[in-house]
Order: sequence, then structure tokens, then C-alpha cells
Amino acid sequence: MQKILNYINGELVEPSSKQYIDNINPATGAAYSLCPDSDERDVELAYQAAEAAFENWSNMPSDNRSKILLKLASFIERDNDKLAKAESIDQGKPFWLAQKGEIPRAQQNIHFFATAIEHYASETHSMGGHALNYTLRTPIGVVGCISPWNLPLYLFTWKIAPALATGNCVVAKPSEITPMTAFMLSELCIEAGLPKGVLNIVHGLGPKVGSALVSHEKITAISFTGGTKTGAEIARVAAPMFKKLSLELGGKNPNIIFADCDFDKAVKESVRSSFTNQGEICLCGSRIFIERSIYDKFKAAFVEESKKMKVGNPLADDTKVGAIASKMHFEKVLSYIDLAKQEGGNILLGGHEVNLDGENTNGYFIAPTIIENLAYHCRTNQEEIFGPIVTLTPFDSEEEVLMMANSTVYGLACNIWTENLNKAHRVAAKVKSGIVWINCWLLRDLRTPFGGMKQSGVGREGGWEAIRFFTEAKNVCIKM
Ligand code: NAD
Repeated sequence: MQKILNYINGELVEPSSKQYIDNINPATGAAYSLCPDSDERDVELAYQAAEAAFENWSNMPSDNRSKILLKLASFIERDNDKLAKAESIDQGKPFWLAQKGEIPRAQQNIHFFATAIEHYASETHSMGGHALNYTLRTPIGVVGCISPWNLPLYLFTWKIAPALATGNCVVAKPSEITPMTAFMLSELCIEAGLPKGVLNIVHGLGPKVGSALVSHEKITAISFTGGTKTGAEIARVAAPMFKKLSLELGGKNPNIIFADCDFDKAVKESVRSSFTNQGEICLCGSRIFIERSIYDKFKAAFVEESKKMKVGNPLADDTKVGAIASKMHFEKVLSYIDLAKQEGGNILLGGHEVNLDGENTNGYFIAPTIIENLAYHCRTNQEEIFGPIVTLTPFDSEEEVLMMANSTVYGLACNIWTENLNKAHRVAAKVKSGIVWINCWLLRDLRTPFGGMKQSGVGREGGWEAIRFFTEAKNVCIKM
């Protein structure tokens, strides 16, 4: 079986423990490779390598850093299909989704920050003729990046690219559930000539590798994407150590459909925002609120359109919904369907696992599920499920839908469907979320601030926000 290796000090190495965890293909339920079961010893080795590399990397002219990162980005582009297939097998997502969306986005992440640093200028503040302030922005040092399993290479590169581009050295930990493409990236880093120690990738379990990273005395900034509970644990450990923290956490996003929307577009895009990547995107709109006058019409069209979401082998071209990423998550999602029934939910579509034939007999497949008749404040409507499950709820007024939309502890993203521009702006301003999409979903400009309010996170990624996070600002004041 293929062994995934850690990437430390420019080399692919075994974990100190020499122990491995089975890496499961969720579409077959079978182990197909081995992920290092690393621990604090490997994190320490990675830290030492990063620390040793920092002087040269941080002092390298930014155009040289940019050149190396652009080379890495070009290798991702070259290997796009190979990486997409690996991502599909590792995570369960349809191959075409990784091929057309996520792996190209991983390339763009690196390209974007590699070129951004070429254009970056820090601020000056003149005090008339008296004095001049200028801001130096210097890399922090060795930083930690921890990423989840839902969009593995996409979210991994979204963190490491700004960290590296701004001159930091990185110790990174991908999810143990989907380690394959980060491993393949480490091979590309070697090929691209990334100096040794600049990026180190330590694979393994969160409570071992992740917590060793977070509690490491000398790693002074942590960029984390994952669940809210894990984010709280990281903050608990890191806050008293005064680490810089960026936390991108869970969501329970509202998708608001007003009666004056472009109906066909709203239905089609709502199917996409509900079930893309098996609903395992933090930005999926899992609570659909529909203005009462079009509730029945929308419900019928939405159910009809959702029936086209074929569940199947992730590698097949016609598969729209692949496998749930892990057995544990599969069981969690199914338990929420049971909960919804107990809470009085009426299942309009799906509501069960899907048993496929052949090599997929033991895979983790769940049918796209649509539920109505639930109170907005019940657990099904308040807790993050992170699977192909959505609820439909009617509303009568803007005030009511805003109250329901804002009723959860989360505040990541919101979709609004209306052709009335005034209403769109009004609702966008009042909804408590870090991202609002009007008449679209997941339309991304990498320059924009990305992140959530309330328990969806702390801080923002993207564009200058990421560059600011990964640098320390120092004001220098000169008296004239
Ligand atoms: P998770 O919190 O279980 O794990 C995320 C990462 O943290 C993994 O690499 C894991 O090994 C590591 N980890 C676990 N325990 C740790 C600890 N004690 N210390 C340090 N690291 C630890 O999340 P997940 O199940 O992998 O991902 C799904 C979650 O991620 C969902 O809640 C989803 O909403 C969220 N998410 C958020 C965004 C966003 O941008 N806001 C994007 C994608 C996913």
C-alpha cells in the first residue's frame, strides 16, 4: 500500500513513531494508502527546519520568492488531472468538480499571492510638515497552518500561499482524513526548488500533531480552518500564549428566496448551493427560507431539480453527488436525518443512505435530502450538519426572515435572491454574516475579505487581509 510521508527540511521522511493510520477511500470504504501517525517529535523537527530556513527565505527579494512559488503553481496546473483524481479518491468528491474547480483554485491561490507580493506597498501617514510615519510589514517567523478535509488542496494552499509569499516559514498540517494531495504537493515543492525547510508538512491526527503545533512556544501565529469546537480548543490554548490567530470555522448559512427573484435561476443555483461537494462546503446554504407566496411553487421545482443530482461513483462523469468523506461523518449526517424526523420534519426527498453496486458497495453515500415543516429554532435548523441535507422554511416579511436567518450561533455566508436592488442591499446590510451573495453563490474574487462573524470565526482571509495577518506591522515615526 502506498505510504504517504512527511515533508520536513526538504525531504520526504517517515514519522518518528514509524506508525501509520489507514487512509480510507470513502467511495469503497477500504484503506488504500497509509498516512503518517506523527507526533510532537515530528512537529519539533519541522519547527527546527523552518526556523533554520527563515533567515534566507525572509530576506530573499520578493520577486525571487515569487518566481519559486509561480513555478510551484505551474506544476499544479501541469498535474491538474492527476491531483484531481487523487482528491476525488481521497475525499469522495466528483472527479470533475476537483478537475474543473478545486485543483485549478489551488493553483490560483499560489499564483494570486505570489504575484500580490510584487504589488504590495505598505502605508505612510504624514503629519503635515512635522513628521512622517511609515509602516514596515515584516514576516512573523515560523507559522502554523491547519486545514480540514472538505476542500483539501484548495484550503491548504489558501493558507500556505500568503504565509510563504510574505516570507514566513511554515509548519502545516493537512487533515488526516484527506492527506494525499498535500503529500503530492510536497513532491512538487521539491521539484520546484523550494528551499529546504521553508514549507514543512506534518501528517497525522489533530489532537497529536495539530495540538503540538498550536501549543509550540515558538510558533507564534496559527491559521486554522475547521470546526467551531476545534477552533474553541485552539483559542483556549493559543490565547494565553498571545499567538496571532485566524480561525475559519463552521456555518449554518441561510439562503433567502424572495418572491420577486429570477425564479429559474434561484432554483438551479439553490440546488448547487445545497448539494455541491455533498453539501460539505462551509459556504453551502443549508437553511432555505422562501417567501410564502411562492413557497409551494419553489418547493416543487426545487425537489424536481434536486432529483437530477445523481449519487454515484465519484470518478464517473455523470456523478453529481459523491461519497461522504469519512464513516464517522457519514454516521453523523445520518443521525441528523433521524433527529429531523424526531423534530417533526417532513422528508420531501432522500432521507436515506444510498447503496451502490460493485466496488462502491461499502462506500458512504447519502441521497440529497430536503426537509420541511421544522421550526427555525429546532436543532436541525441550528446545528451544522455539513452534508447533503437542507431544510425549507416559509416566511412572510423581511423582518421575519432576518430574525430567522440571524438566529444561529454562526455567521459565515448568506445568499439572497431578489430582483429588487434596494431590498437586496437592505437585507445584505442587516444579515449577520461575513459573506453575502446576491443572485449568485460561490462567486469568488480572491482579493475580497473572506471569513465569518460570531462562532464562524475570528479574522479574515483573502487579499490584503491574509497578507496583513501573516506580517507584523511596525510603525516608524520620523520627526522632521
Ligand atoms: P476539524 O475541526 O475536525 O479538523 C480540522 C483540522 O484541525 C484537521 O486537520 C484536524 O486534524 C485538526 N485538529 C483537530 N483537533 C485539533 C486540535 N485539538 N488542535 C489542533 N488541530 C486539530 O474540522 P473538519 O471536520 O476537518 O472540517 C469540517 C469543518 O470545517 C466544518 O465545521 C466546516 O464548516 C469547517 N470549514 C470552515 C471553512 C471556513 O472557511 N470557515 C472552510 C471549510 C471547512
